[in-house]
Amino acid sequence: MTMKRVIDGVHLIPMGNANGYLIEVPDGLTLIDAGFPNREAAVFAAIRALGRTPDQLKHLILTHGHPDHIGSAAAIVRETGARTYLHPFDIPLAKTGGPFRPMTPAPGLLRQVLCRVLYDHNERLMPVAIDEPLIDGKTLPIAGGIDVIHVPGHCAGQVALLWRSGRMLFAADVFMNVTGLGDPLGFEDLKEGRESQSKLADLSFDAVGFGHGKTITHDAMTRLRRWVGK
Ligand SMILES: [Zn+2]
Ligand SMILES: [Zn+2]
Repeated sequence: MTMKRVIDGVHLIPMGNANGYLIEVPDGLTLIDAGFPNREAAVFAAIRALGRTPDQLKHLILTHGHPDHIGSAAAIVRETGARTYLHPFDIPLAKTGGPFRPMTPAPGLLRQVLCRVLYDHNERLMPVAIDEPLIDGKTLPIAGGIDVIHVPGHCAGQVALLWRSGRMLFAADVFMNVTGLGDPLGFEDLKEGRESQSKLADLSFDAVGFGHGKTITHDAMTRLRRWVGK
């Protein structure tokens, strides 16, 4: 699988059953999430396919500190020099490269099984330094403004990102859209996870991208609201 256009200015990069999103604006490139380990080549190929060079990747924003989202971060930074961003609660995970915090599988048989198979909190990664903490309510001065929304539950340091000029929400693992819109594989705190799902459904956007599964490019806000029961 190769890079796929999502909306104007946003490309999806498959990084091993996890999604990276490349935001392209004239003054540079921003990557949201760094996939599983050893997936950095997919990012460099995507950048070159856009007629750019890896040193034009200026920002690497990590939605949370799980191994399938920060796995290739160290390798990407080494090649590009990109500035890194992560919520303070998860910065120790990136700094040490693991171990990670345990999760309880989300309700339902499929997630009970997949969470145990796919998530290993004892995994070890190459550590990556974080340049800037992601603070709830702040707007990053990147690509015309990216809002940071703290959405714990699946992971204590998880954030969602709202790129207002593209009207696209990056929902990370607050939801997953693998066999239809639904819960992520697991939660550290189910109650917080439900609150975060509700919080995202209250935002205004047209498109939504997830850490796993298909993006929704039309009526995304309506679909999220319906799923949470609004
Ligand atoms: Zn996760
Ligand atoms: Zn994930």
